Amino acid sequence: MLKCDKCGEEVHPSNDAVLVAMEAGTISMVGLLVYGSRHFLPTENCKGSPSRAQYIEGQPRDTRGFVYNEEDEQGWRDDAFARVQEKYPLVDQ
Ligand SMILES: [Zn+2]
Repeated sequence: MLKCDKCGEEVHPSNDAVLVAMEAGTISMVGLLVYGSRHFLPTENCKGSPSRAQYIEGQPRDTRGFVYNEEDEQGWRDDAFARVQEKYPLVDQ
């Protein structure tokens, strides 16, 4: 597994912000090479990617100034994140 560029720990694909962003269509395959990996939802030791994770139910709004765009909500939550969960099911993690 790839390591998070923020915290340095391994990122399970089901919680990889870069893979979710690819599903959302905001970055390309090239982006995957450029960005590597980053936690999407926060973990014990990592803040993850709040600007994107805020669209997932139960996650806090990003407080760093990223505007919450309701038009983006379904794309991130129901489409991109859900698809990544399907592609990379959490088995024995
Ligand atoms: Zn991390």
